[in-house]
Amino acid sequence: MAGEAQDDCLFCRIVAGAVPATIVRETETTIAFRDINPQAPTHVLVIPKAHYRDAAALAAGAPELAADVLRETQAVAELDKLESYRTVFNTGTGAGQTVWHAHAHVLGGRGLHWPPG
Ligand code: 5GP
Repeated sequence: MAGEAQDDCLFCRIVAGAVPATIVRETETTIAFRDINPQAPTHVLVIPKAHYRDAAALAAGAPELAADVLRETQAVAELDKLESYRTVFNTGTGAGQTVWHAHAHVLGGRGLHWPPG
């Protein structure tokens, strides 16, 4: 069911503390941790603790939680003193989503080109 922890979900396992991660911020509803394969000097993932398979499911099923995630992306940028940064939600295989638990990438600390690849 939407929102319930999934045993086979990597990010639910990070939320549960079963898989280690470098957590930089935690709130009642979200955690933010450094990406294991960083694409920029700052590359942090912000996730809802509750399980939603992607950003679309999160926005439709729990819009206040989606707002919590978005608010935390700004907090991460402030934490890493980023003047400019990019927030990315890959949604669907064709967009590069590989982990099926909604997450925002926060990228910064270098020049970022547009359009992205
Ligand atoms: P996606 O491709 O789904 O948008 O993003 C998934 C992200 O999760 C990737 O950037 C990938 O590097 C990151 N990732 C995958 N496995 C782990 C892990 O075990 N720990 C952390 N911290 N990040 C992970």
